[in-house]
Amino acid sequence: HVYTKEEVHQLVKDSNVHFLRLMFTDLLGVSKSVDLPISQLDKLLNNKIMFDGSSIDGFVRIEESDMYLYPDMSTWLVFPWGEEHGKVARVICSVHTIDGKPFAGDPRNNLKRIVDKMHKLGFKHFNIGPEPEFFLFKTDENSQPTMEVNDQENYFDMEPLDLGEECRRDIVLTLEKMGFSVEAAHHEVAPGQHEVDFKYADALEAADNIQTFKMVVKAIAKRHGLFATFMPKPLAGVNGSGMHLNMSLFNNDGNTFYDPKGELQLSETAYHFLAGLLKHVRSLTAICNPLVNSYKRLVPGYEAPVYVAWSASNRSPLVRVPGDRGVGTRLELRSVDPAANPYLAIAAVLNAGLDGIENKLTPAPEVSENIYKMTPAERKAKGIVDLPDTLHNALKSLAADDVVKDSLGEHLYKNFYEAKTREYNSYRLDVSSWETKKYMSY
Ligand code: GLN
Ligand code: MG
Ligand code: MG
Ligand code: MG
Repeated sequence: HVYTKEEVHQLVKDSNVHFLRLMFTDLLGVSKSVDLPISQLDKLLNNKIMFDGSSIDGFVRIEESDMYLYPDMSTWLVFPWGEEHGKVARVICSVHTIDGKPFAGDPRNNLKRIVDKMHKLGFKHFNIGPEPEFFLFKTDENSQPTMEVNDQENYFDMEPLDLGEECRRDIVLTLEKMGFSVEAAHHEVAPGQHEVDFKYADALEAADNIQTFKMVVKAIAKRHGLFATFMPKPLAGVNGSGMHLNMSLFNNDGNTFYDPKGELQLSETAYHFLAGLLKHVRSLTAICNPLVNSYKRLVPGYEAPVYVAWSASNRSPLVRVPGDRGVGTRLELRSVDPAANPYLAIAAVLNAGLDGIENKLTPAPEVSENIYKMTPAERKAKGIVDLPDTLHNALKSLAADDVVKDSLGEHLYKNFYEAKTREYNSYRLDVSSWETKKYMSY
């Protein structure tokens, strides 16, 4: 729903809103925000809010730094806190250049571009149900995070040992007050690790939700004296944090992935989408797993995918087909981690799937055996390849795949590739304590 100016003024009156939090996302997936007092509302509605784009990662150079924030009023949402000084409302904005054009380097604008392409192919919604995982760490006397978790619990464990439960419940309550429909919240496998699942939404809204979700989790954890991190592998030797994406494509008649007469009750469209996803997944990895640290999660033994395969019966592969059918028919991509920029990740995944549909690709057969028990030769015989094992190799794969590069567009691709190459090189130049411990005796 796009609100009229009158409706917005009414919303403000009705909800005691005194501040507007304008949100957008930089190249690396970091939420940026500007707070405006409500007196500036008309200026915002007239698309007159300017900011310095050269200070934002991956945006523009100094010479072209003036940019505008255009509000997307359908994202109007009032935060359930700050009553006494007036409430804060979130408005997600898209970034426009000085001459009023949508800025190609804004990840949200880019996702809209891929969504438009999907509309042209006759689909209406790309529904995404994310499963973000995160860790809660204790903080020290300066409120800085320690590496100490606040419980020793396990998957689905309950009180009284789960000290994160209070905090997690507070997160869920806050999200619900903000209109999120939370479907599940539970302790995860590693100590201090949690998962909160909320209802699927169409591509753009899902990415917006993920950004708002992360903000809420961090803010509520802080109130509990804890530090929440979406770092993919904060602790060696235990599970890392993923953000599985459940996805389906809808048209006017409903879920196009469902066909009661198809094999496994999946439609041709679902198989084509799956094939496109599998074809491009190695080159998507840099986008869905964008940190040096992401690759410490994608290793055997911790429920994270390592090999390119799909299955309807087995939980371990990269792409799983969960048991639901009918409207809930979906593919679950398990490689994505919560450090990914959700706008870029969803654009890349969607574009890969659409490539499969446009070119009527067929996926390799399902792998229902445990891949982790296969020898390299057995995997080779079945044509099962590995996901990239480092950010470096992921970037190499990205650079060689035009479909995935197109899903970012020129501006975002160039800046992403350069930023991530610098990041990898800085890691490569560092001499770590692991190395000095291991090699000083030489
Ligand atoms: N934490 C696991 C991962 O890294 C997932 C565990 C689970 O949800 N079953 O993806
Ligand atoms: Mg889950
Ligand atoms: Mg999980
Ligand atoms: Mg899952």
